[in-house]
Amino acid sequence: MIFDGVREKTLVLVKPDAIQRGLIGEIVARFERKGLKLVGIKMMNLNDEVLKEHYAHLADKPFFASLKNFMKSSPVIAMCWEGLEVVSAVRLLCGITKARAAEAGSIRGDFAMSVSCNVVHASDTVDNAKREVARFFTEDELQDYRKSEYEHVYAEDER
Ligand code: UDP
Ligand code: MG
Repeated sequence: MIFDGVREKTLVLVKPDAIQRGLIGEIVARFERKGLKLVGIKMMNLNDEVLKEHYAHLADKPFFASLKNFMKSSPVIAMCWEGLEVVSAVRLLCGITKARAAEAGSIRGDFAMSVSCNVVHASDTVDNAKREVARFFTEDELQDYRKSEYEHVYAEDER
């Protein structure tokens, strides 16, 4: 999996609260209008096994069981977005975990009020993004194509 330059990748999950609230399009639009490239997308149900891996850093927290139940309460949309320094760019677009304190203009700042039901997941570091993209997508499910808008989204020396 290539992670160099504009081929850096990150994992985004549209969480069950956003699916129930009809926010899929709004969320996808945020990343599209930023100039990011969608290279993988699918709707899927998460199970305890993948959630234990995905949220391993929270396994000893009192809210871990309810977090797993929340993430299993409906399908999620898994997406892989590509771009230059996309991991940090997407974290900024999403906003901080506690949605009611997230900056206005960010996805969580604009669409959510909860620390738990905060509409999106996004990888937090490049190393975690590598692991997370591989956790949710096979190589076959990741597309490689030319996006013509890159000529305008990036300067020549950035693409
Ligand atoms: N979470 C929660 N209660 C908390 C902290 C986190 O329910 O006190 C949930 C929330 O859905 C959050 C996820 O666990 O998005 C992962 O937590 P993390 O600290 O990794 O935050 P994120 O990277 O999603 O901002
Ligand atoms: Mg996290």
